[in-house]
Amino acid sequence: MKACKNCRLIFEDAPKCPQCSGEELTDKFNSTVFIFDPAKSKIGDKMGVKAPGKYAVRIGK
Ligand SMILES: [Zn+2]
Repeated sequence: MKACKNCRLIFEDAPKCPQCSGEELTDKFNSTVFIFDPAKSKIGDKMGVKAPGKYAVRIGK
């Protein structure tokens, strides 16, 4: 599993992020959260999430 440093989406190993096409990926993340409805989710709003999915709350350097 990897997390995109740009949008924080978590996905299976891929060369780039399927959501934003970002290529800055990391496997150092924790506190994952599944956001079903970004518009109604406070944490989703805070993180700038626009699409449902699994996201990393914190990403390591
Ligand atoms: Zn991304």
